[in-house]
Amino acid sequence: MPLMTAKEYIESLRRLKTRVYMFGEKIDNWVDHPIIRPSINCVAMTYALVQDPRYEDLMTATSSLTGRKVNRFTHLHQSADDLVKKVKMQRLLGQKTASCFQRCVGMDAFNAVYSTTFEIDEKHGTHYHENFKKFLIYVQDHDLTVDGAMTDPKGDRSKAPHQQTDPDLFVHVVERRPDGIVVCGAKAHQTGSINSHWHIFMPTIAMGEADRDWAVSFACPTDADGLYMIYGRQSCDTRKLETGGCIDQGNAKFGGQEALVVLDHVFIPNEYIFLNGEYEFAGMMVERFAGYHRQSYGGCKVGVGDVVIGAAALASEYNGVEKASHIRDKLIEMTHLNETLYSCGIACSCEGCPTKAGNYQIDLLLANVCKQNITRFPYEIVRLAEDIAGGLMVTMPSEQDFTSETVVGRNGETIGDICNKFFAGREGVSTQDRQKIMRFLENICLGAAAVGYRTESLHGAGSPQAQRIMIARQGNIQGKKELAKLIAGITRDSE
Ligand SMILES: Cc1cc2nc3c(=O)[nH]c(=O)nc-3n(C[C@H](O)[C@H](O)[C@H](O)COP(=O)(O)OP(=O)(O)OC[C@H]3O[C@@H](n4cnc5c(N)ncnc54)[C@H](O)[C@@H]3O)c2cc1C
Repeated sequence: MPLMTAKEYIESLRRLKTRVYMFGEKIDNWVDHPIIRPSINCVAMTYALVQDPRYEDLMTATSSLTGRKVNRFTHLHQSADDLVKKVKMQRLLGQKTASCFQRCVGMDAFNAVYSTTFEIDEKHGTHYHENFKKFLIYVQDHDLTVDGAMTDPKGDRSKAPHQQTDPDLFVHVVERRPDGIVVCGAKAHQTGSINSHWHIFMPTIAMGEADRDWAVSFACPTDADGLYMIYGRQSCDTRKLETGGCIDQGNAKFGGQEALVVLDHVFIPNEYIFLNGEYEFAGMMVERFAGYHRQSYGGCKVGVGDVVIGAAALASEYNGVEKASHIRDKLIEMTHLNETLYSCGIACSCEGCPTKAGNYQIDLLLANVCKQNITRFPYEIVRLAEDIAGGLMVTMPSEQDFTSETVVGRNGETIGDICNKFFAGREGVSTQDRQKIMRFLENICLGAAAVGYRTESLHGAGSPQAQRIMIARQGNIQGKKELAKLIAGITRDSE
């Protein structure tokens, strides 16, 4: 089957019976809903760029399972070069959308589940790896978007799944049948879940024997019986419902999306199960998925950062300050921070190595260092962007004011005339362009896109402490002590 075009992808969503709720109501035509559509356009870009010969090398790969050409978002990484191309592809997508394009969670889940199922089968003689391979071939051949669903609501964070008052706070098996399992629970914060054809569910923490029923991973169609989603709010989201122009949205074309995905007694046939009670592998699946996803951010957030830096540079020009030395220096600092993030994404890819199953895994220490920096640098980048933009970014009247013909002045000036007079910047720059760049920056610094650029940078792929735990585990302090002892001439072990 040929790879899908953007248009075909959008049409394919219409054929699903996905259940979506927003503002307390069921949304029937969610594909064309003004709040949801920008996030669909974003995923559509992962299909559109495949059709552009300039990006073929980055956007496509040869399937290790079938030898056929696939969208790189469905690929199992076969080399360090594949891992590097993944990061470059994500930077490209970030540059084209200035948003979270959502499809990477599925790609990261594919690679984590592929290698983990191999090792579960090796120990337990199960058939999860074969199940997964068959599923992935189907995904690759139909060029599907798949959500990587890991984060459970988790209730009381100090308690294990089996200790929660409500067992549904972690996804779990409620019934085991000869032909499959029945699952209940939910996954919170699911990026792109409504825009996905299928979901892969994975555990969210390492588990013990008492959590056996919660140690479960499986694939499930997005419109499965018993599965539904409640759409997540974003700051300023109702601006998308306003009529009379779209400048105030900042980025009317693209956006991200998160939702609560609920599983209410969903039946999962055996062939789609990838983990079912082998609790000691829950931690491996989490660690691997998180590792790939922490690498991802060294690409996607960098691409968005490129656009933020560009927008800040434009704002400085429109304000007439682009030659000021401190402005230039701030743009240098933003670039330095952004490229440092990229360096981390590239480094953990170059240092990748093969798993037992044969696909390539990033260097886990460097991927965690990458993500730890991601929890900080985008915040500094937007702080500098806000500094350069000036206060207008958050105090400017609405687009309707700029076009209003209501007379307010003594000489018949309209509200629009007054706005255009007082919000003019440097000569030769249209006030509307200045308005557009200010709104764009507002959107990314504290509007709807800030979900993807700021808070997702902090919590997505795990909160900062999760990376510090991994850094502590991988950092090999003992080995470093030996290095110091050798050079310092210390031969005795400490008491
Ligand atoms: C925009 C966005 C997109 C996301 N997309 C996805 C997605 O596509 N798929 C997916 O599976 N997940 C996704 N996530 C979820 C993300 O992985 C979680 O937000 C993250 O793991 C943190 O979990 P939490 O939000 O429940 O916060 P919490 O776990 O409540 O963390 C809040 C704070 O409490 C601390 N804490 C939590 N538990 C403990 C503990 N036991 N002991 C000590 N301290 C603790 C944390 O370190 C943190 O400082 C997304 C999140 C965001 C914000």
